Amino acid sequence: MEITGTAQREAWREGVLPPVEEVRPGLWSIPVPIPDSPLRYVLIHLLAHEHGLLVLDAGWDHEDAWTALTQGIIGTGHALTDVSGIVVTHMHPDHFGLAPRLREESDAWIGMHPADAALVLEQNPEQVAAARADAVAQLVAAGAPDALLVGAGTIAMERLPLDHGVDRELLDGDTLRIVGSELTVVHTPGHTPGHICLFDDRRRLFFSGDHVLPRISPHIAVIPGQQIDPLGEYLASLRKVAAFDPDEVLPAHEYRFRGLGSRARELVGHHEERLDELLAAIRSLPAPTANEVCDQLTWSRPILTMAPHLRRMALRETIAHLVVLERRDLVRARPGVPERWFPTSAGESTPEPIHLEAGAPR
Ligand SMILES: [Zn+2]
Ligand SMILES: [Zn+2]
Repeated sequence: MEITGTAQREAWREGVLPPVEEVRPGLWSIPVPIPDSPLRYVLIHLLAHEHGLLVLDAGWDHEDAWTALTQGIIGTGHALTDVSGIVVTHMHPDHFGLAPRLREESDAWIGMHPADAALVLEQNPEQVAAARADAVAQLVAAGAPDALLVGAGTIAMERLPLDHGVDRELLDGDTLRIVGSELTVVHTPGHTPGHICLFDDRRRLFFSGDHVLPRISPHIAVIPGQQIDPLGEYLASLRKVAAFDPDEVLPAHEYRFRGLGSRARELVGHHEERLDELLAAIRSLPAPTANEVCDQLTWSRPILTMAPHLRRMALRETIAHLVVLERRDLVRARPGVPERWFPTSAGESTPEPIHLEAGAPR
């Protein structure tokens, strides 16, 4: 993997926003800040087409982000009303947040994969309550301590009205015309059920959203009502994009790079190691709950010192790995509340996993 967004990487190291860049004629990268986030910014891409601009992702719904987005658009010599389409790679608030406001101001269409479009529709109070109850039930089944149940399932986000949801469904293989080329939609479920990447065939550019990032591995979690096996889907989507051979990858965070295939394989390897670590934890503990497995794993910092919402994320990531091990017939859950996990005879007899040294690059 080779870093090509050197100004972006420099800015990343210095803790500042990278510059707006015209990456290719008629293609701009606009960093839009994410308030109070270690990710710091989302990279919005603007693409000129015959009748205006396509905006790829919209940024967090915050006044500073709106200023950066609109100044970025105006800086390219376009007006807000030139925006004709807003393509959202996935439903997370750092990507979707400002899409409704930008649609309002520009009259542009919003395009998303239907699996994520369904998750940004307005919810009635019963649906909100049901989602919260499902989130709590998942944690209870996983054996989470009471401290993690408080505030579960309370993420507020920008949504679209039911009567005027997403304007355009973007499916795998669909194409969007831009100046001198076209973008092909690549459905890459995993990080979310409807995550999409876009491939600019003529210029050999790959817009990877959050699916493949140069430095970090995206959050893959079982969220009730979304995916049953998000990690299995994610691994398949990594193998899918490894078959592309672009000259440059334009991710939605961090910096541009070259070497999509090698980075995708590296991420597969990271998760395979993690699966080995989980299997070893299940073998070493007496019928653990998912939460006990989670507490046993290595995290970027001690799990018990993390804030409850981060521990919930870690636990839902652990559950995603358990589902893959279960589908590979290496572990089984004993029904009950909480569920308890044990290795199958196949899981018991696979060789002891080999671990890289702690701190080895991933
Ligand atoms: Zn995301
Ligand atoms: Zn993101």
